[in-house]
Amino acid sequence: MTPQAVREWVREARRIVVLTGAGMSAESGVPTFRDAQSGLWANFRPEELATEQAFRAHPSMVWEWYALRREMIAKVAPNAGHLAIAAFQQRHPGRLAVVTQNVDGLHQRAGSPGVLALHGNIADDRWLDAPRACCDAQAPEAGTPPRCATCGNLRRPAVVWFGEMLPAAELEAAGEAAARCELMLVVGTSGLVYPAAGLARSTRGRVVIVNPGATDLDDAADALLAGTAAALLPLLLDEERNP
Ligand code: NAD
Repeated sequence: MTPQAVREWVREARRIVVLTGAGMSAESGVPTFRDAQSGLWANFRPEELATEQAFRAHPSMVWEWYALRREMIAKVAPNAGHLAIAAFQQRHPGRLAVVTQNVDGLHQRAGSPGVLALHGNIADDRWLDAPRACCDAQAPEAGTPPRCATCGNLRRPAVVWFGEMLPAAELEAAGEAAARCELMLVVGTSGLVYPAAGLARSTRGRVVIVNPGATDLDDAADALLAGTAAALLPLLLDEERNP
Protein backbone atom coordinates (compact mmCIF):
# COMPACT_ATOMS: atom_id res chain seq x y z
CA MET A 1 0.00 0.00 0.00
CA THR A 2 1.31 3.45 -0.89
CA PRO A 3 0.91 6.74 0.98
CA GLN A 4 -1.11 7.94 -2.03
CA ALA A 5 -3.69 5.17 -1.52
CA VAL A 6 -3.93 6.02 2.17
CA ARG A 7 -4.45 9.70 1.29
CA GLU A 8 -7.55 8.53 -0.57
CA TRP A 9 -8.76 6.68 2.55
CA VAL A 10 -8.24 9.87 4.57
CA ARG A 11 -10.28 11.83 2.02
CA GLU A 12 -13.15 9.32 2.22
CA ALA A 13 -13.27 8.82 5.99
CA ARG A 14 -15.85 10.84 7.89
CA ARG A 15 -14.39 9.85 11.27
CA ILE A 16 -10.68 9.36 11.86
CA VAL A 17 -8.74 8.41 14.98
CA VAL A 18 -4.99 8.96 15.28
CA LEU A 19 -3.55 6.73 18.02
CA THR A 20 -0.04 7.79 18.95
CA GLY A 21 2.86 6.46 21.02
CA ALA A 22 6.37 7.50 21.92
CA GLY A 23 7.63 7.39 18.29
CA MET A 24 5.28 10.31 17.48
CA SER A 25 7.57 12.59 19.49
CA ALA A 26 10.92 11.02 18.59
CA GLU A 27 11.60 13.63 15.90
CA SER A 28 10.88 16.38 18.44
CA GLY A 29 13.82 14.99 20.40
CA VAL A 30 11.88 13.05 23.07
CA PRO A 31 13.46 9.62 23.35
CA THR A 32 11.20 6.57 23.20
CA PHE A 33 11.49 4.29 26.21
CA ARG A 34 13.70 2.03 24.15
CA ASP A 35 16.14 4.91 23.53
CA ALA A 36 15.66 6.76 26.83
CA GLN A 37 17.96 4.79 29.06
CA SER A 38 21.38 6.29 28.65
CA GLY A 39 24.04 7.66 30.97
CA LEU A 40 23.18 7.39 34.64
CA TRP A 41 19.97 5.56 33.89
CA ALA A 42 21.41 2.93 31.58
CA ASN A 43 21.13 0.24 34.24
CA PHE A 44 17.43 0.79 34.99
CA ARG A 45 14.50 -0.42 32.94
CA PRO A 46 11.57 2.07 32.67
CA GLU A 47 9.27 -0.71 33.85
CA GLU A 48 11.26 -0.67 37.11
CA LEU A 49 11.16 3.11 37.57
CA ALA A 50 7.65 3.91 36.36
CA THR A 51 5.75 2.05 39.07
CA GLU A 52 4.15 2.99 42.39
CA GLN A 53 6.28 0.36 44.08
CA ALA A 54 9.49 1.93 42.78
CA PHE A 55 8.36 5.41 43.86
CA ARG A 56 7.50 4.22 47.38
CA ALA A 57 10.82 2.42 47.70
CA HIS A 58 13.01 5.12 46.11
CA PRO A 59 11.00 8.37 45.89
CA SER A 60 13.96 10.67 45.25
CA MET A 61 15.43 8.48 42.53
CA VAL A 62 12.14 8.18 40.64
CA TRP A 63 11.34 11.90 41.17
CA GLU A 64 14.75 12.81 39.76
CA TRP A 65 14.21 10.60 36.68
CA TYR A 66 10.91 12.42 36.03
CA ALA A 67 12.47 15.82 36.73
CA LEU A 68 15.02 15.22 33.98
CA ARG A 69 12.31 14.09 31.55
CA ARG A 70 10.16 17.13 32.43
CA GLU A 71 13.08 19.48 31.82
CA MET A 72 13.87 17.85 28.51
CA ILE A 73 10.23 17.93 27.32
CA ALA A 74 9.84 21.60 28.28
CA LYS A 75 12.66 22.43 25.83
CA VAL A 76 11.35 20.60 22.74
CA ALA A 77 8.63 21.57 20.26
CA PRO A 78 5.90 19.77 18.32
CA ASN A 79 7.19 18.33 15.02
CA ALA A 80 5.71 18.40 11.51
CA GLY A 81 3.60 15.34 12.36
CA HIS A 82 1.92 16.93 15.41
CA LEU A 83 1.35 20.10 13.38
CA ALA A 84 -0.16 18.25 10.40
CA ILE A 85 -2.69 16.54 12.70
CA ALA A 86 -3.66 19.81 14.42
CA ALA A 87 -3.98 21.64 11.08
CA PHE A 88 -6.26 18.87 9.72
CA GLN A 89 -8.45 19.19 12.83
CA GLN A 90 -8.70 22.93 12.31
CA ARG A 91 -9.71 22.49 8.66
CA HIS A 92 -12.19 19.70 9.51
CA PRO A 93 -13.67 20.34 12.96
CA GLY A 94 -14.93 17.20 14.70
CA ARG A 95 -13.63 14.77 12.09
CA LEU A 96 -10.37 13.58 13.69
CA ALA A 97 -9.76 12.54 17.31
CA VAL A 98 -6.29 12.21 18.84
CA VAL A 99 -5.79 9.40 21.34
CA THR A 100 -2.29 9.38 22.77
CA GLN A 101 -0.20 7.26 25.07
CA ASN A 102 2.28 10.10 25.29
CA VAL A 103 2.64 12.18 28.42
CA ASP A 104 4.65 14.99 26.79
CA GLY A 105 1.74 17.34 25.94
CA LEU A 106 3.08 17.96 22.41
CA HIS A 107 -0.24 17.31 20.64
CA GLN A 108 -1.87 19.87 22.92
CA ARG A 109 0.96 22.36 22.31
CA ALA A 110 0.57 21.84 18.54
CA GLY A 111 -3.06 22.98 18.92
CA SER A 112 -4.98 19.69 18.78
CA PRO A 113 -8.31 20.10 20.59
CA GLY A 114 -9.73 17.48 23.00
CA VAL A 115 -6.67 15.20 23.09
CA LEU A 116 -7.45 11.95 24.95
CA ALA A 117 -4.25 11.49 26.96
CA LEU A 118 -4.59 7.91 28.19
CA HIS A 119 -1.43 8.00 30.33
CA GLY A 120 -1.73 11.49 31.83
CA ASN A 121 0.63 14.45 31.47
CA ILE A 122 4.16 14.59 32.82
CA ALA A 123 3.88 18.32 33.58
CA ASP A 124 1.26 17.65 36.30
CA ASP A 125 1.61 16.04 39.71
CA ARG A 126 -0.76 14.83 42.42
CA TRP A 127 -0.78 13.33 45.92
CA LEU A 128 0.51 9.76 46.21
CA ASP A 129 -1.99 8.81 48.93
CA ALA A 130 -5.51 10.23 49.30
CA PRO A 131 -4.94 13.75 50.69
CA ARG A 132 -5.96 14.54 54.30
CA ALA A 133 -6.91 17.94 55.70
CA CYS A 134 -3.28 18.56 56.64
CA CYS A 135 -1.87 17.95 53.17
CA ASP A 136 0.06 20.93 51.98
CA ALA A 137 3.10 20.51 49.77
CA GLN A 138 6.34 21.85 51.22
CA ALA A 139 9.09 23.12 48.94
CA PRO A 140 11.38 20.15 48.45
CA GLU A 141 15.09 19.95 48.83
CA ALA A 142 16.59 19.70 45.37
CA GLY A 143 15.97 16.27 43.88
CA THR A 144 13.27 15.17 46.32
CA PRO A 145 9.49 15.13 45.82
CA PRO A 146 7.43 17.76 47.66
CA ARG A 147 5.88 16.30 50.83
CA CYS A 148 3.35 17.25 53.50
CA ALA A 149 5.30 18.26 56.60
CA THR A 150 2.56 16.86 58.88
CA CYS A 151 1.73 13.42 57.50
CA GLY A 152 4.57 12.84 55.02
CA ASN A 153 2.29 12.31 52.01
CA LEU A 154 4.29 12.82 48.79
CA ARG A 155 3.54 14.51 45.49
CA ARG A 156 4.01 12.18 42.50
CA PRO A 157 3.94 12.69 38.73
CA ALA A 158 0.35 12.55 37.41
CA VAL A 159 1.13 9.89 34.84
CA VAL A 160 -0.22 6.36 34.63
CA TRP A 161 2.45 4.00 35.88
CA PHE A 162 2.83 0.36 34.90
CA GLY A 163 0.15 -1.67 36.66
CA GLU A 164 -2.18 1.33 37.20
CA MET A 165 -5.67 1.96 35.86
CA LEU A 166 -6.12 4.39 32.98
CA PRO A 167 -8.38 7.42 33.54
CA ALA A 168 -11.88 6.01 33.04
CA ALA A 169 -13.42 8.93 31.15
CA GLU A 170 -10.56 9.15 28.61
CA LEU A 171 -10.49 5.40 28.09
CA GLU A 172 -14.25 5.28 27.51
CA ALA A 173 -14.15 8.20 25.07
CA ALA A 174 -11.23 6.60 23.23
CA GLY A 175 -13.08 3.28 23.03
CA GLU A 176 -16.13 5.03 21.56
CA ALA A 177 -14.03 6.96 19.04
CA ALA A 178 -12.26 3.74 18.00
CA ALA A 179 -15.53 1.86 17.61
CA ARG A 180 -17.05 4.60 15.43
CA CYS A 181 -14.13 5.58 13.24
CA GLU A 182 -13.75 4.58 9.62
CA LEU A 183 -9.98 5.00 9.64
CA MET A 184 -7.38 4.68 12.39
CA LEU A 185 -3.80 5.86 11.94
CA VAL A 186 -1.56 4.11 14.48
CA VAL A 187 1.59 6.20 14.76
CA GLY A 188 4.83 5.50 16.61
CA THR A 189 3.70 2.82 19.00
CA SER A 190 5.17 -0.62 19.49
CA GLY A 191 1.63 -1.86 20.25
CA LEU A 192 2.81 -3.69 23.35
CA VAL A 193 1.13 -1.57 26.04
CA TYR A 194 -2.54 -2.41 26.76
CA PRO A 195 -5.32 -1.34 26.88
CA ALA A 196 -4.16 1.39 24.43
CA ALA A 197 -3.01 -1.14 21.82
CA GLY A 198 -6.38 -2.91 22.06
CA LEU A 199 -8.05 0.14 20.48
CA ALA A 200 -6.44 -0.76 17.15
CA ARG A 201 -7.85 -4.27 17.43
CA SER A 202 -11.35 -3.13 18.43
CA THR A 203 -12.05 -0.81 15.50
CA ARG A 204 -14.02 -1.93 12.47
CA GLY A 205 -12.48 0.89 10.46
CA ARG A 206 -9.38 0.58 8.34
CA VAL A 207 -6.12 0.48 10.30
CA VAL A 208 -2.94 2.10 8.94
CA ILE A 209 0.34 1.76 10.81
CA VAL A 210 2.91 4.54 10.47
CA ASN A 211 6.19 3.33 11.89
CA PRO A 212 9.74 2.86 10.59
CA GLY A 213 9.89 -0.54 12.30
CA ALA A 214 7.74 -3.62 12.85
CA THR A 215 5.05 -3.46 15.57
CA ASP A 216 2.96 -5.93 17.50
CA LEU A 217 -0.15 -4.61 15.71
CA ASP A 218 1.05 -5.24 12.16
CA ASP A 219 -1.23 -8.26 11.81
CA ALA A 220 -4.27 -6.03 12.49
CA ALA A 221 -3.33 -3.49 9.78
CA ASP A 222 -4.89 -2.88 6.38
CA ALA A 223 -1.77 -0.93 5.41
CA LEU A 224 1.75 -0.63 6.79
CA LEU A 225 3.60 2.58 5.95
CA ALA A 226 7.28 2.28 6.81
CA GLY A 227 8.40 5.79 7.64
CA THR A 228 8.46 8.39 10.36
CA ALA A 229 5.65 10.48 11.81
CA ALA A 230 7.11 13.83 10.75
CA ALA A 231 7.71 12.65 7.18
CA LEU A 232 4.47 10.74 6.56
CA LEU A 233 1.71 12.58 8.44
CA PRO A 234 1.99 15.82 6.42
CA LEU A 235 1.86 13.69 3.28
CA LEU A 236 -1.24 11.81 4.46
CA LEU A 237 -3.20 14.68 5.99
CA ASP A 238 -2.39 17.80 3.98
CA GLU A 239 -4.72 17.82 0.95
CA GLU A 240 -2.87 20.72 -0.64
CA ARG A 241 0.42 18.89 -0.72
CA ASN A 242 1.47 17.22 -3.94
CA PRO A 243 2.05 13.53 -3.37
P1 NAD B 1 7.71 2.34 22.57
O1 NAD B 1 8.92 3.09 23.07
O2 NAD B 1 7.42 0.99 23.08
O3 NAD B 1 7.81 2.24 20.97
C1 NAD B 1 8.12 3.33 20.16
C2 NAD B 1 7.71 3.00 18.74
O4 NAD B 1 7.94 4.16 17.94
C3 NAD B 1 8.51 1.86 18.10
O5 NAD B 1 7.62 0.99 17.44
C4 NAD B 1 9.41 2.60 17.07
O6 NAD B 1 9.68 1.79 15.93
C5 NAD B 1 8.55 3.78 16.72
N1 NAD B 1 9.25 4.96 16.23
C6 NAD B 1 10.51 5.39 16.55
N2 NAD B 1 10.77 6.54 15.90
C7 NAD B 1 9.65 6.85 15.18
C8 NAD B 1 9.30 7.95 14.33
N3 NAD B 1 10.14 8.94 14.11
N4 NAD B 1 8.06 7.94 13.77
C9 NAD B 1 7.18 6.94 13.98
N5 NAD B 1 7.47 5.86 14.78
C10 NAD B 1 8.68 5.84 15.38
O7 NAD B 1 6.48 3.34 22.81
P2 NAD B 1 4.94 3.11 23.12
O8 NAD B 1 4.38 2.05 22.23
O9 NAD B 1 4.34 4.47 23.11
O10 NAD B 1 4.84 2.48 24.59
C11 NAD B 1 5.64 2.81 25.66
C12 NAD B 1 5.01 3.64 26.78
O11 NAD B 1 5.95 4.65 27.02
C13 NAD B 1 3.72 4.37 26.52
O12 NAD B 1 2.88 4.08 27.58
C14 NAD B 1 4.08 5.88 26.60
O13 NAD B 1 3.16 6.54 27.44
C15 NAD B 1 5.40 5.92 27.28
N6 NAD B 1 6.37 6.93 26.74
C16 NAD B 1 5.93 8.17 26.40
C17 NAD B 1 6.85 9.09 25.87
C18 NAD B 1 6.34 10.46 25.50
O14 NAD B 1 5.41 10.97 26.13
N7 NAD B 1 6.90 11.11 24.48
C19 NAD B 1 8.17 8.75 25.68
C20 NAD B 1 8.58 7.46 26.07
C21 NAD B 1 7.65 6.55 26.59
